[in-house]
Amino acid sequence: MNTSFVTTAIPFVNALPHLGFAYELVLADALARHRRRRGRAVRFITGSDDHSRKNVIAAATEGIATRALVERNSAAFRALGPLCGVEPDDFVSTSSDPRHRVAVDWLWRACAASDNLYRRAWQGRYCVGCEAFVDDDVAVCPEHHVAPELIAEDNWFFRLSRWREPVRDAIESGRLTIVPEAARAETLAFLAGDVRDLSVSRLATRSGGWGIPVPGDPSQVVYVWFDALAYYLSSLGLGGGDGAEGALLERWWRPPGERVHVIGKGITRFHAVYWPAFLLSAGLPLPDRIFVHGYLTVEGEKISKSGRSVEVAPVVDQVGVDALRWFFVRRCRTRADSDVTRAGIAAAHDLDLADGLGNLVQRCTALGARILQGRIPEPGVETPAAASLRARAEALPALVDVALEGFALDEAAGAIGALIDAANRSLELAEPWRIARTDPAAAAAALYAPLEAARIATGELAPFVPGIARTIAARLGGGLQPGWGGLVPGAALAAGSLPIPRKARSV
Ligand SMILES: [Zn+2]
Repeated sequence: MNTSFVTTAIPFVNALPHLGFAYELVLADALARHRRRRGRAVRFITGSDDHSRKNVIAAATEGIATRALVERNSAAFRALGPLCGVEPDDFVSTSSDPRHRVAVDWLWRACAASDNLYRRAWQGRYCVGCEAFVDDDVAVCPEHHVAPELIAEDNWFFRLSRWREPVRDAIESGRLTIVPEAARAETLAFLAGDVRDLSVSRLATRSGGWGIPVPGDPSQVVYVWFDALAYYLSSLGLGGGDGAEGALLERWWRPPGERVHVIGKGITRFHAVYWPAFLLSAGLPLPDRIFVHGYLTVEGEKISKSGRSVEVAPVVDQVGVDALRWFFVRRCRTRADSDVTRAGIAAAHDLDLADGLGNLVQRCTALGARILQGRIPEPGVETPAAASLRARAEALPALVDVALEGFALDEAAGAIGALIDAANRSLELAEPWRIARTDPAAAAAALYAPLEAARIATGELAPFVPGIARTIAARLGGGLQPGWGGLVPGAALAAGSLPIPRKARSV
């Protein structure tokens, strides 16, 4: 399993991006960077979901054309990545990327060819916020707190009922992993119930003509979720839309390899039931894992209900991108909802990074400047304390890997923090600044293990806080390659001001 295909969901672009989607981007980016660091080939993608009727309604409210609203907001979502230190390999805007329509077309025709689509009249209750039909007994959508509207239409249906057992089997057998357990259990409970066929088209007139026409039936547009889920494969040229004759699909989706969807908890069913069913009916492989994260609240308020914009740029301006990223991975528990405050972001940064790693590097480099002419020391004879620190450092990558297998980024970050704490403690016990006066050689040797632990911790931190990792790497003379013994004795060790400045005073 040498390839990793990592994705975010694509957000509806009826409004400008807020902190909630920045969270998902950072989690997925950290996973992608971690896989790259472990030597895997990685493709990491994101995009925007442009065809929702919500966008049509939002544009009408603003008095502008739907396309104008979508292009403006999609561009803002595209800019969110760089703002958050996120580096996707691709970005698919579903209304303007020519690859996307080709892929949706292909997927539709494949489902039709395997006799999984049929047309019939029906009526149902629909939540525009969810872009989904809700059960007849739901008076108010629990996600959006509005009453669903009654819709009577002639639509295309996907034979979801036929795929209940195969999807359940994929989940129960572990071929499709859903983390955390609560999301898996919710999915299996849904599949244990009465799974009905799914309406997968809408009258084109009702959506103002906005959407991808159903192949062979232009009176209908493809249901926005069928359309949006296809983005995972339109980015890989499904149907030949990228002119590369399926080369990306063959590399990233068909062979055994990791295929991870990172999503928010409100859209589990779409990803864990509908999407696998579409794929199976089209004869395509399934994703192998779905990581489901909780929601963010900001200063105690739910983001989408707070009535005020929680834009990302002012937060990044104030606390810095690495502090925000660190807060997301260290202080937000992916398995639950988490509350974000600017003071909390600054405090976590200062406690874990400035006081922990920053202080460790600062003390080592300052003493190195004094007794070693700013050079990295020789390892010397390893003391029991140094051996114990080395054992901890060598065990760290496996701890990080296990935590990330369970989508527990906070536990991975915590394990790194524990090594930094141990290195700081070992430095305090060895007191090299005191023995430097009488035995400079012993003092220099006492610096080696904490410095090497700092270097290894920084390497493991790099997927989470890439900017800070670069700063520390430069202080320690360069490389963050894995494995004890990567420091180069005699190379320059740069002293100077605190490598990770504290934030709390500025917030
Ligand atoms: Zn809803």
